[in-house]
Amino acid sequence: MDIKIIPLPAEKMKAKIADQSQLGFGKYFTDRMLLVEWKSGQGWCDARIEPYAPFMLDPACTVFHYAQEIFEGLKAYKWSDGRITLFRPEMNARRFNQSAERICMPEFPEELFVKGIEQLVSLERDWIPTAAGTSLYIRPTMIAVEPVLGVHPSNHYYFYVILSPVGAYYAAGFKPVGILVEDHYVRAVPGGTGEAKTGGNYASSLKAGQEAEKKGYAQVLWLDGKERRFVEEVGAMNMFFAYGNRIVTAPLTGSILSGVTRDSVIKLAPSLGLTVEEKQIDINDLMTDIRAGKVTEAFGSGTAAVITPVGKLCYKDEVLQLTGGNVGGITQKLYDTLTGIQTGKLKDEFGWVRFVG
Ligand SMILES: *Cc1c(COP(=O)(O)O)cnc(C)c1O
Repeated sequence: MDIKIIPLPAEKMKAKIADQSQLGFGKYFTDRMLLVEWKSGQGWCDARIEPYAPFMLDPACTVFHYAQEIFEGLKAYKWSDGRITLFRPEMNARRFNQSAERICMPEFPEELFVKGIEQLVSLERDWIPTAAGTSLYIRPTMIAVEPVLGVHPSNHYYFYVILSPVGAYYAAGFKPVGILVEDHYVRAVPGGTGEAKTGGNYASSLKAGQEAEKKGYAQVLWLDGKERRFVEEVGAMNMFFAYGNRIVTAPLTGSILSGVTRDSVIKLAPSLGLTVEEKQIDINDLMTDIRAGKVTEAFGSGTAAVITPVGKLCYKDEVLQLTGGNVGGITQKLYDTLTGIQTGKLKDEFGWVRFVG
């Protein structure tokens, strides 16, 4: 399918953000977006890159009432030699369709997903920030836009991609965060939508996040929804715990999101002298191991921050420090290696980097 390029009138061009230290996350958007429609009986049609603008949507659309929507998150980088790259975009394309299947939305051609993003990013290349730690965040989304209140899969969808120049996550330094283990609210249950990247999972997590913030914690660590006993994941990150050179993470049992960064950490680990174990982690055992000093580091993995060091964990009012509240060696090494590959400073041994023409 060809993507039509709708001209961008000069008066619709926005000023670039001159001070890259002010970018923050997801506050600014570029001049253009990619939009493809799906209509039943017709399939995907009308692919176009057009000026970024609000949608005019009927208030009855399914997405507004029953949250039929999915999304993705990945980044584009501008290397010091001027080349533009994406990091493992085919993984996002595949996961997008896994989410689509769960939420009863049509499959989106994976080649068009990657090609469409490449074309859009290429047109918007001047928006990619270049300061250390910055990137262009890419947000593919699918929403149900049929205006009907009956509860059932829509007959009309928008697939769209917007771009946001984002700042360095660790502008104030690579500092460990405090995490609150959530023992009341749950994020996902077996058979639920935990494995899908869908807005509803986030809507139901807001309350726990707000309460954690009030107590001074950055995010919550979710336990399994059935027994509230096994460690699952954090907000928008998968979690790893290091026992010396052995790193442990929860298995993909259906209620946690299969992170691209999680997969990259697992694949990278052996070359850094680490062994990886995917196994159920009982929160009580974990707390015992932290108290005994066996857990040497903890960190999260996700596209937005890549690797997030965790320096403090609170469970049922007991607060435990990790790595003396400092950034551990493994955490630092994984962060440096992953961001090094993403920005072209380190060799890409895995074929993860995709150049945008
Ligand atoms: C997106 C997301 C992650 C991280 O996935 P990455 O592909 O590494 O960015 C983890 N958990 C949840 C709930 C997510 O939505």
